[in-house]
Amino acid sequence: MPAQIIDGKAVAARMTAEVATNAAAFQHSTGIVPHLAAVLVGDDPASAVYVRNKQRACEKAGLKSSLHRLPIDTTEAQLLDLVEDLNADSTVHGILVQLPLPKHIREQVILDAVIANKDVDCFHPHNVGLLVQGRPRFLPCTPAGCQRLLAEYNISTAGAHAVVIGRSEIVGKPMAMLLVQRGAVADATVTICHSRTKDLAAIVRQADIVIAAIGKARFVTADMIKPGAVVIDVGINRDGDKLVGDVDFDAVSQVASAITPVPGGVGPMTIATLLRNTLTAAQLSAG
Ligand code: NAD
Repeated sequence: MPAQIIDGKAVAARMTAEVATNAAAFQHSTGIVPHLAAVLVGDDPASAVYVRNKQRACEKAGLKSSLHRLPIDTTEAQLLDLVEDLNADSTVHGILVQLPLPKHIREQVILDAVIANKDVDCFHPHNVGLLVQGRPRFLPCTPAGCQRLLAEYNISTAGAHAVVIGRSEIVGKPMAMLLVQRGAVADATVTICHSRTKDLAAIVRQADIVIAAIGKARFVTADMIKPGAVVIDVGINRDGDKLVGDVDFDAVSQVASAITPVPGGVGPMTIATLLRNTLTAAQLSAG
């Protein structure tokens, strides 16, 4: 039987509506409109599209968004100055620095400069530490989006073997960290695989839940999937004019019990979580 398709677009729309309701109530009681400031350096077209989508989503949820566009030759010092200004601006609650930054700017230096209470991407070492300890301030956007999809589709994670492919700071590591915590939609036995993993296919075949975050089109093939496993595809890759995931969707959906499509799976959930984090940041600012 072909896999159930996990509809990230629909879940993200529900989550955005929840944020809208809660943001309206927050505004009603405090007079504060949650505000996300996005910073975009250079003119990478894909980054511009991502930022535009995030801004549109803010509008849908009744949040304020502002865009700070800087030229490609912006220096690290100039960008740091902008981040410091946004840190100090009490009308800004969340700061998003769109990655990648131009090569001459050290991403780590910039991301570390974003004050922890406005770090809606959950990249700051303080926020990552809180996440590891199971008492998060903000949830990492893409991993939390994946976790919410598992929750919405009643996929049991307690005691399940979850295999995360990829160890990036933005997806792989925080994904594993969420699933290994005690509690709901967690309590999994987690394996992290990466580019140096030996016999990856054999490990992935043991998984009840596979999270693919590799960045290689159709890398996960049907022979790597245990029949009935749940497959969450984080990848976004260009194949001509098509967007495809890290999973060979057509073949894997014949073996898995549930699977996310690309597009329309994890992507919209990332943005919905960002909105929720922006509201959380505004709530933090209001004490
Ligand atoms: P990354 O390049 O930082 O990390 C990729 C990871 O894959 C690395 O940790 C690496 O060890 C692992 N890897 C590479 N080759 C491998 C191999 N042959 N075998 C096993 N592991 C291998 O990428 P990222 O930022 O984590 O993103 C991963 C993918 O997810 C990309 O396609 C990206 O576009 C996409 N992405 C999507 C969203 C979303 O909202 N849907 C958000 C972030 C990233």
